[in-house]
Amino acid sequence: MLPIPIQKTFTYSVTNEEANFLNEGMRVAVSFGKTKMFTGLVFKIHENAPTLYEAKEIHQILDEQPLVNNLQLKHWQWISTYYMCSLGDVFRAALPSAFLLESETIVYKNEAFNNEDILEDDEFLIFEALQHQSQLTIHQVVDILGKKKVMPTVNELIKKSAIYIKEQIYEQYKPKLVKYVRLHASYNSDESLNALLEELSRAKKQRDAVLTFFQLSTTKKPIKAKDLETKANVSASVLKSLVDKNIFEFYEIQIDRINFKGDTNDLKELNEFQETALKEIKETFTNNDVTLLHGITSSGKTEVYTKLIQEVLDAGKQVLFLLPEIALTTQIITRLQVYFGDQISVFHSKYSMNERVEVWNNVLENKSKAQIILGARSSIFLPFSNLGLIVVDEEHETSYKQFEPSPRYNARDSAIVLSKLHNAKILLGSATPSLESYFNAQQNKYGFVELNRRFGNVQLPKIELIDVKEKHRKKEMKGHFSDRMLKLIQEALDEKEQIILFQNRRGYSPVVECKTCGVAPQCPNCDVSLTYHKFKNELRCHYCNYQRAMPNSCAACGSNTLDTKGFGTEQIELELKELFPDFKIGRMDLDTTRGKFGYQKIIGAFEAREIDILVGTQMLSKGLDFDNVSLVGILNADTMLNFPDFRAHERAYQMMVQVSGRAGRSKKQGNVAIQTYNPYHKILQQVSSTNYTEMYKEQLQERWQYKYPPYFRTIKITLKHRDFNKVDTGVNWLFKALYNSFGENVLGPTAPAVSRIRNQYIKNIVIKIPPKQSLANTKNQVTKIRNTFEAVKDFRPIRFIIDVDNY
Ligand code: ADP
Ligand code: ZN
Ligand code: ZN
Repeated sequence: MLPIPIQKTFTYSVTNEEANFLNEGMRVAVSFGKTKMFTGLVFKIHENAPTLYEAKEIHQILDEQPLVNNLQLKHWQWISTYYMCSLGDVFRAALPSAFLLESETIVYKNEAFNNEDILEDDEFLIFEALQHQSQLTIHQVVDILGKKKVMPTVNELIKKSAIYIKEQIYEQYKPKLVKYVRLHASYNSDESLNALLEELSRAKKQRDAVLTFFQLSTTKKPIKAKDLETKANVSASVLKSLVDKNIFEFYEIQIDRINFKGDTNDLKELNEFQETALKEIKETFTNNDVTLLHGITSSGKTEVYTKLIQEVLDAGKQVLFLLPEIALTTQIITRLQVYFGDQISVFHSKYSMNERVEVWNNVLENKSKAQIILGARSSIFLPFSNLGLIVVDEEHETSYKQFEPSPRYNARDSAIVLSKLHNAKILLGSATPSLESYFNAQQNKYGFVELNRRFGNVQLPKIELIDVKEKHRKKEMKGHFSDRMLKLIQEALDEKEQIILFQNRRGYSPVVECKTCGVAPQCPNCDVSLTYHKFKNELRCHYCNYQRAMPNSCAACGSNTLDTKGFGTEQIELELKELFPDFKIGRMDLDTTRGKFGYQKIIGAFEAREIDILVGTQMLSKGLDFDNVSLVGILNADTMLNFPDFRAHERAYQMMVQVSGRAGRSKKQGNVAIQTYNPYHKILQQVSSTNYTEMYKEQLQERWQYKYPPYFRTIKITLKHRDFNKVDTGVNWLFKALYNSFGENVLGPTAPAVSRIRNQYIKNIVIKIPPKQSLANTKNQVTKIRNTFEAVKDFRPIRFIIDVDNY
């Protein structure tokens, strides 16, 4: 199996000895194409030579033991078939990149060459560089020539026999080694020690180091070089000279980068409602492998999970706890570590490559510190050998779905398949379940348990809708705040309580528009207007990250009447600073949470009550638990409701109920205020009464009527190319071909709302699959049509993207 997007495996030849040594799931280095070297994974060892090509020999065996087990291989195959992607795509996504060593082309000088006159200018530059250093990487050649396309020059040099090239493989993972100090073997008698101190009497610093060493060694623990330096107050060079004198020795121990240090507590005692829920979950598990726990916000679902986890650990099995990416960097890790300490390993994208390798290895070896994996979606790929339980917290979250790049999988659904492979149970938890999961529970496909009481019997927050159209008419708005919202904020501040304000958009204001001619500055690479970021006074594209300084005048008409319209988090923050100058305002969005500890910093400050009002985007809705928040404000509910997507209403409901759930979690009932132009909107009414079932029934009705999931499944096909006409011709051909097979159930072709991104034109087609139509047959047919499409020479350069369950 090679980490490339080609839908097949490849056969390489091995010797008998190699075949005996190799096992499925081990990595081998193999060459592919003319010069490329790849990390391949052994998928099958067999004796059938390929008929269409000659099997090459493998280059090197990279593992002593399989890195990937058979259950994983089965799981990957399912993902590849179901999501219509190559096994290689899954392989590449599954392994931490450090395991996928890559080759690099290295350029060497041919010592025998002396005919410099025949070299062109560029060629000479490379040749000359090789006089100063023995080898060059292609990257260095690129730097030397100052251009990207260097292979023609390199090839020319090879032809002229001036250089030769080799592929060099490099291993990327670096174990973290800690340097320790011990005494050289010749000094273990007391006499020799006295002699030693005598000898050092004139080297004061070195003597200090040795004396401190003896102090520290009374504890019999290994002594870190760094610790000795600090305690003895000497520099690294002092230790080094002692090593040179054969008095000390350095040695190294490999350690994990992430280690839990701290105390653990017992699990909390459950209240009667949680007890009942736990009992019911266990009952459903006798008949069902999947159970949905619908528990309102702050009902204490996490505590229920911990009890289940404990039982599975006691039975000697592993647990996978899936969370949306963002929730992971915050409180839940700490909360679970208090109970399970160093049995937990965490796995998510803000971890470095090396940290991820360590987690992988710990799971592979079933180490005690990898009994519970807390992870984001990609942790479903870890080498579990005996999973007993998977918990999918906030199962409705969109971030479980990977949209780009392939494999475009849904981690919740893939986790269900994974649990089946392990004969494990899986619990989906949410206060606002996805329509599909709730539907499956209603159909008795999943077990179903409810938890309807907030912990401590705190009531769900009081939710009020504020009609901003009315407020504008009566001139009761200050900036983007209604007088009512301001009053509620003031009341909470007076009580020394905290406030969360939700604005589903970052930046200062989404659009800048010329008041004279109405033109808005556009991204040069995408079909979208630029967003204004006031702090840096610049315009940015949220699709391709293009940025430029805010212009003084309109590019179209030249007048200096550029004006901002709409509003984002940054603008809200500034307005608040003016309205409440004595209070501390914080902001949490993509722009303020970059870096590994970005989230923790802001959330930590809010927890420590160093921030009074926190303004943020939807990342505020993900499973946070603050005990002093009494007011949650949603500044503009309408953008969420008007989103052009069949799930917009479901999503808007989930998001608003989740953010509301951050209010009044511990003591008294909280308040939620929602500003809207449309207070009679059904969804807002359902949010204000937290009526999930009514939302569910109504949405389900619409899904049936308009033929959407959970009744119909969908597959989305996207075509992309720089040339508009090419995509257009391609998509029309494709539409007809699909229409011939699926008729009315093919929708499109359409251009998405942003129809050009990074200079690529985009067209979409959606295929709907009716309840009784076979998924497998449909996918086979789509694959056939795709193969024909790609056989057409004109269409071949068009990017063809398939997204199964594209929602
Ligand atoms: P949910 O995940 O359902 O929103 P949490 O598990 O975060 O709810 O619980 C809400 C709050 O109540 C947390 O601060 C939690 O520590 C507390 N809590 C929940 N159950 C218990 C319990 N049995 N004993 C003590 N505190 C609890
Ligand atoms: Zn752009
Ligand atoms: Zn203008």
